[in-house]
Amino acid sequence: MKIISREEALTNGLKRYFTGIACKNNHVAERAVSNFTCLECQKDKAKKNYKKDPEKWINRRMSYYQNNKDSERQKMKAYYTDNYEKQNSDRKKRYYEDVEKNRRYSREWAKNNKLLRKINHVNRKKKIIQATPSWFAELDQFVLSEAYLLADLRYKLTGIDWQVDHMVPINAKNVCGLHVWNNFQVIPAYLNNSKKNKLIFINPFEWIGAL
Ligand SMILES: [Zn+2]
Repeated sequence: MKIISREEALTNGLKRYFTGIACKNNHVAERAVSNFTCLECQKDKAKKNYKKDPEKWINRRMSYYQNNKDSERQKMKAYYTDNYEKQNSDRKKRYYEDVEKNRRYSREWAKNNKLLRKINHVNRKKKIIQATPSWFAELDQFVLSEAYLLADLRYKLTGIDWQVDHMVPINAKNVCGLHVWNNFQVIPAYLNNSKKNKLIFINPFEWIGAL
C-alpha cells in the first residue's frame, strides 16, 4: 500500500490515508480521514457490536436499505459489475481444478484396484446381458453408438466427463431397467456416480434439473 498523508488525502478528496505506522492495536492499515481511526479497528468494533445484539444491527441495516433503496441498489450493482469477471473466473478455476483432481484420484484408484476392477467389469457385463431383451436390434445398437459419440462430444465441449447411463438402472433393487434404446441417456459422470442404483434421473432430461 502506498503511503499518503492525511493532508494529501484531504487535498485529493480521498476518504482514507495511510501512514504505514501500526495503530495501538498493531494494525498496519488505512485510516479514515474524517476521524483518524484505523479501519481494521473500526471493523473489529463493528463485529463486537454486532455480536452483542445481532438483531438490532440487522434491523438497522434493513431499515437503512429501505430508506436508501436507490443508492443501495446502485452500490450493489456497481459491486456486482466490478466483481463479476473475477468471481466468475475464480469459480471456473475451482471447478476445473476439481475435475483434474477427481480424474487423478480415479486413475490412482484404478491402478491400485486392478482385480476389483476386473470383477466389476465382468459383473457389469453380466448385468448388461441380463438386461438385454431378445428383441435388442439395430435401433438399440444405433442409439447406443450415438450416445457414446455424444458423451465424447460433450466432454470436448465442457471439459467434464460424461457417461452413457441407463435411465432406469439395470441393477436397481425392485425394478430392472432394460438395455434398450429408450432407456439410454448421456449425463455428467459426477451425476451418474451419485446415482448408482438409486431411482433418480429416470425420466428424460430430469438430470438437467440437477446441474
Ligand atoms: Zn487498528
